[in-house]
Amino acid sequence: MTTSSKVALITGASRGIGATIARRLASDGFAVAINYASNAAEADALVAELAQAGVSAIAVKADVSRADHVHAMFATVEDQLGKIDVLVNNAGVLKTAPLAQTSDELYAQNFAINTQGVFNTLREAATRLNDGGRIINLSTTSLALNLPGYAIYNGTKAAVEAFTRVFAKELRGRRITVNAVAPGPVATDLFLNGKTDEQIDTFARMPPLERLGQPEDIAGVVAFLAGKDGAWVNGQVLRANGGVA
Ligand code: NAP
Repeated sequence: MTTSSKVALITGASRGIGATIARRLASDGFAVAINYASNAAEADALVAELAQAGVSAIAVKADVSRADHVHAMFATVEDQLGKIDVLVNNAGVLKTAPLAQTSDELYAQNFAINTQGVFNTLREAATRLNDGGRIINLSTTSLALNLPGYAIYNGTKAAVEAFTRVFAKELRGRRITVNAVAPGPVATDLFLNGKTDEQIDTFARMPPLERLGQPEDIAGVVAFLAGKDGAWVNGQVLRANGGVA
């Protein structure tokens, strides 16, 4: 299967924000590759939903923290959909814990997925993305909030923001933009799991717009950066958070 549509690869797109980004880019005319780590059923269901709507879509299993998986994922997408135009680095994990109580394993897992995962895909994209392409990395507004428990997670995303700014310059001559989107709290498993109703309500009341973000709020910003109107935005971090910071 190859397609004349532009091709978008979205990491961590079996559920949450990534699945909504995949739906939105598909409705904007992209063929989409839906990466996931373990949740084949949800990734396959999303592919079936998009195929029903006439979209070229594939699911690709790969652990982004593994360079060999990422290398193979790019090859699969190129084989089945064509060369990639838009890379969305969305796959991520969040496990909050005070720094003093963070195990070596938790530290390593957070950095392996959130930071090395992005490094792995950016390194592939440097030679394999189509000229004129777009790269959008997911960071977080929690970097601006400095809440207790977020030291390691924020550290992983601070690195992603640093990669974004430098890589935008390293791609000079390719007409590829590299930006980051930094959401505030969004109602997905990643944010909701492990929180009480009261804690969720406190987060929801923080922004002046007085609600949690929805995946659609973030997908719209990603679609802007991936589309025609976002062409002149490069090397930036765009916060989408209802005004919380
Ligand atoms: P989510 O609902 O927990 O979904 C996470 C996705 O990442 C799933 O598709 C999961 O795949 C995938 N994934 C996890 N580890 C992976 C790995 N090693 N390799 C490939 N895929 C992997 O999370 P979300 O809330 O949508 O978050 C998406 C991004 O937004 C993350 O980078 C997160 O840090 C960022 N963000 C979220 C919020 C928020 O409040 N939700 C706020 C700021 C930033 P499986 O289904 O196969 O496990």
